[in-house]
Amino acid sequence: MEKHLSRVLVLSGIVMLGATLAAYQAPAQAPAPTPTAAQLDVVKLKDNLFVITSSTPGGAGFSGGNVSVFITESGVTLVDTKLAAWGPALLDKVKSITTKPVTTIINTHTHGDHTGNDDKFGKVEIIAHENTKANMAKMPAFAGDKAQYLPSKTFSNTLTIGKGASQIDLHYFGRAHTSGDAVVIFPALRIAAMGDMFAWKDAPRCDSANGGTCVDYPKTVAAAAAALKNIDTVIPGHSPMMKVSDVQEYARFLADLVSSAQAAKKAGKSVDDAAAAFSVAKYPGYQNQNVKAAIQVIYDEMK
Ligand SMILES: [Zn+2]
Repeated sequence: MEKHLSRVLVLSGIVMLGATLAAYQAPAQAPAPTPTAAQLDVVKLKDNLFVITSSTPGGAGFSGGNVSVFITESGVTLVDTKLAAWGPALLDKVKSITTKPVTTIINTHTHGDHTGNDDKFGKVEIIAHENTKANMAKMPAFAGDKAQYLPSKTFSNTLTIGKGASQIDLHYFGRAHTSGDAVVIFPALRIAAMGDMFAWKDAPRCDSANGGTCVDYPKTVAAAAAALKNIDTVIPGHSPMMKVSDVQEYARFLADLVSSAQAAKKAGKSVDDAAAAFSVAKYPGYQNQNVKAAIQVIYDEMK
């Protein structure tokens, strides 16, 4: 008992020392100001469909992925929920768009810049692909008490919720950015949200640790593009609104990238040389910030 007590005292001493060090170190870093709703931009696509943007990575105003706000008779469905630090700002922004309550959250995939505020809307239905639920269950953000915010409904290939003007169709086309990328279609509005399967006009991030693949990525995007019938607007993960023709072009870009990288590896070229040899110039508006990292993943997958 006494031995136990002294251990407790030593442990609490360590905790206090840690707290003291943390307090001492804190001023070295400027405290990050809490983001506000005013820092979030909104694009109105329809009277009942808005996109909360500010989603371009790199800038100080980066809030996480695009969030679709779909307003129906019975409530609001959000597609993705941005970074955790942007929770209060996101809640305020949604309230500025509609007075109706959020009843459903759809997560396009597991990443924290898309799932960061799943726990901020009370007890709502959270829907994701079954592989995304499994990926989320590995995240510290969904450990312990937070496990109650893991998806309450999952699907494997397709899932339809609601009907008529409220209908939402979820589709899975295979592995790409992760093992559980969902494409979300609002058929009555002719709008689709693609999450990070189509994040931007650049090489994708292929998250191998969460079941993603660069090698199979073109096939998955081509299947998605073929299924986007009667769609006028595509909401990508991290860039301004796109069209189906952009998704089709992305599938061609990806096929080009993968076949170029595979040929380079077979020819014994280094990843650096393969990246230098791959030009995005024939794809208007494309950047090459992620090309080298994607080629590295392709090389790793070919081992
Ligand atoms: Zn992502």
